Amino acid sequence: MEDLISNSLPGMRDLLPEEMGRFQLVEEHARRVFAQYGFAEIRTSILEPTELFARGIGDDTDIVGKEMYTFLDRSKRSVTLRPEATASVVRAYLQNAMYRSAGVTKLYYMGPMFRHEKKQKGRWRQFYQIGAEALGSDHPAIDAEMIEMALWLLKSLGVEAHLLLNSVGCRDCRPRYIDLLRSELNKCVTDLCEDCQRRASTNSLRVFDCKVERCQPFIETLPAISEHLCQECAEHFAKVKGCLDEAGIAYTFVPRLVRGLDYYIRTAFEIVSGELGAQNALAGGGRYDGLSEALGGPPVHALGFALGLDRLVMILPEEQSAKSQRKPELFLAYMGEAALIKVSEIARDLRHQGFSCYLDFSAGTMKSQLRMANKLGTRHVLIVGDDELARNVASIKCLDDSRQWEIAIPDIGAYLNRFRIPNS
Ligand code: AMP
Repeated sequence: MEDLISNSLPGMRDLLPEEMGRFQLVEEHARRVFAQYGFAEIRTSILEPTELFARGIGDDTDIVGKEMYTFLDRSKRSVTLRPEATASVVRAYLQNAMYRSAGVTKLYYMGPMFRHEKKQKGRWRQFYQIGAEALGSDHPAIDAEMIEMALWLLKSLGVEAHLLLNSVGCRDCRPRYIDLLRSELNKCVTDLCEDCQRRASTNSLRVFDCKVERCQPFIETLPAISEHLCQECAEHFAKVKGCLDEAGIAYTFVPRLVRGLDYYIRTAFEIVSGELGAQNALAGGGRYDGLSEALGGPPVHALGFALGLDRLVMILPEEQSAKSQRKPELFLAYMGEAALIKVSEIARDLRHQGFSCYLDFSAGTMKSQLRMANKLGTRHVLIVGDDELARNVASIKCLDDSRQWEIAIPDIGAYLNRFRIPNS
């Protein structure tokens, strides 16, 4: 016999039904919230040409440099499992010439992302994101609305979260700032960790993402981008903050907050939760006006965010988690083969009427079937045994108070519909 293959790859995991219930609850909730804000779903391919991410995210980012699942397909083309979805959404936007339609294009997505990251609590190599992108406006009010939507999505699920906000400048003011940053970094480069030493010359902004303790005192003395914004960026940032104030949204201005991806300009934000521990980021986002051009498209103002679903479900409040566990409305218990045929018929009929019915085929005793109904959280069990069958009736047992009563089998559908007995 071959060896049993019983382990998934490191960093990959199966989402079992209980956790899937929470994923589904959040996804359904997100669909409702996104629709309220006028966003429509897009599903892009999970496998993309490697070039899309190399150009769209940047060769010298950790994601592209170290973390992508890249391989040659059968036609020897380099392909990559998407590490994030923004580049794919913009690719689809360009490929389908969505920029031709008037107004702002508002899209959302949900699905798996792949990054070969170091193993750490709260980090997986296949993880799930829900995200939204709005393409076609540079109005500061849309930055604020995007942030409001992300926060409302969390708040309406009962999740406490906090907004961290910064502006990272634009293609005019950032290069000047980067020059300044590099010259400051050069003064302390030998004191920094290996990664920071490399970043100092390749991708200096990423130094601010460093979590190594000995780098922190040096990082704190570095100039902050927000103090070196050009006038347009400073005005844009002031207006975004004004709109957030109007909406009553609290935030912490974090002058050294940068995003790991090259194409971000101006508004950059993170949403964090105190309940998550070291990996406290629930969502990250911002404006990426340069991405379309980086992919060969026309200039397009755009912004978006991505929210980590794996982390969000970890801190979902108890009452939401309880809601996510779907219980069958009715458990149908039977004794004997003839009764099984009868309950199958009843279940079929009830399902066609919209009820969820659970039938167990392991031919257990009545006691074990009731135990299973209890475990599933069903409140009502419909019982058919030889005696009931002979009289063309079924017993209904309420598991809450053990009351039991009989109903003529042909009347069950009408009866349940009338009282809507089940725990829906
Ligand atoms: P990013 O695309 O890196 O801006 O990440 C956005 C959000 O996705 C983060 O705030 C996390 O909640 C989540 N996320 C990113 N990477 C991972 C990962 N490896 N495992 C789980 N969640 C992740």
